[in-house]
Amino acid sequence: MALEEYAGDMSMCCRCSACKFVPLQQVKGFKHANVCPSISRYNFHFYSGGGRLNLGYAGLKNGFQYVPRYLDVLYNCQLCGACDVSCKYGMDMEVLRPIQEMRIKAVEDGHPHPALETVVSRMRATGSMVPVAGRKRGDWAEGLGLRNALEEKVEILYHVGCLTSFDPERQKVARATARVLDRAGVSFGVLGEAETCCGGRAYEMGHQADFLAQAAKSKELVEKTGVKTLVTSCATCYQVYKVLYDRFGLKDELEVLHITQLLERLLGEGRLKPSRGQEITVTYHDPCHLGRLGEPWIHWQGKKIPGDRFVFDPPKPYRRGTHGVYEPPRRVLAALPGVRLVEMDRIKEYAWCGGSCGGVIDSNPEFAEWTAAERLAEATCTGAEAIVTASPWSEKLFAQVLAKNGGDLAVYDIVELVDQAV
Ligand code: SF4
Ligand code: SF4
Repeated sequence: MALEEYAGDMSMCCRCSACKFVPLQQVKGFKHANVCPSISRYNFHFYSGGGRLNLGYAGLKNGFQYVPRYLDVLYNCQLCGACDVSCKYGMDMEVLRPIQEMRIKAVEDGHPHPALETVVSRMRATGSMVPVAGRKRGDWAEGLGLRNALEEKVEILYHVGCLTSFDPERQKVARATARVLDRAGVSFGVLGEAETCCGGRAYEMGHQADFLAQAAKSKELVEKTGVKTLVTSCATCYQVYKVLYDRFGLKDELEVLHITQLLERLLGEGRLKPSRGQEITVTYHDPCHLGRLGEPWIHWQGKKIPGDRFVFDPPKPYRRGTHGVYEPPRRVLAALPGVRLVEMDRIKEYAWCGGSCGGVIDSNPEFAEWTAAERLAEATCTGAEAIVTASPWSEKLFAQVLAKNGGDLAVYDIVELVDQAV
């Protein structure tokens, strides 16, 4: 949908500023009441969800002028969706959708962010969002004897994702995932060197045409395998296959699972029996793409009744972040001997972003690290010894910030803990 489609939503913004905070009824305390990294960092209304809607609406009425301040506002947003969820606590209107459309419009009007354009060009050339640096995509699987889903019939395709495939520090998650699936006797395969980027991060960066071209390649590959189920250990890839592809009519009947959902199933069926583990107190970070952004797409069809305020017939259901993947990772952690979970103040749909969303990690690494540091400080408040997540992007950024700023927290991907326990 083009930005114009959201003019009504943008005009509805009453500047109440609820999108800057965890809803009052849900807030646990002053220290962790903020929910939007952008307004918290830059402290000027245009850097909030509502502020961006005000800018977009003004642009629609008076024309967009791509002055440096506007572009700064546009690209210093994590697109984490926290504003959207907080606004919808009381309102029926879209917030994140028009903000995303403003980015797409900027790219189409010839104003991409230079750093993000570089990343997207890399994807076009190599099929990877991260530097390939002479490595091959399937290198992480060397010696594991995994089945190639393009050559052998398997029930489940394990999509590894760019960061987990190429980043030497994240490949451990791919290996742990493969080991755990193997131990549970799952019939799975990988695409090896043929795997390609899902394209979702290009979409967030505003490059919609590049996303659609990349998604077509990825879809074709998955179809060639004939699998009915795709599982991934990357929260972003999950959101892209599950939600974004569905929205654009690219998902068809494919079942898309995050690894935590499959692990929960395998534990329930007794196919995984965790018996060892370390005595450790952990806190769990809900990745935005697995949580509020991972809520299934709702296909609504009806008509918009014109008027001062828009009305939909039949009433349009809104995605409010409540149906993200929140319980599977918590149930998996609860099944691990010795692991005790303590929760942060901002969890589930009100979780503070881990800092790596919306291209900010590439366009403004300082802002990304600041956002992650805020989350790590919140995690430290719980008294946990480790922060566990289910996104390679969050895990990488947390580890990077801890190495830089210091701190006693350990960082784990949830699959690493399961791997240790089984
Ligand atoms: S976007 Fe929603 S919550 Fe934010 S100021 Fe506007 S109406 Fe209020
Ligand atoms: S998407 Fe996230 S960073 Fe952007 S305005 Fe909304 S809450 Fe703030």
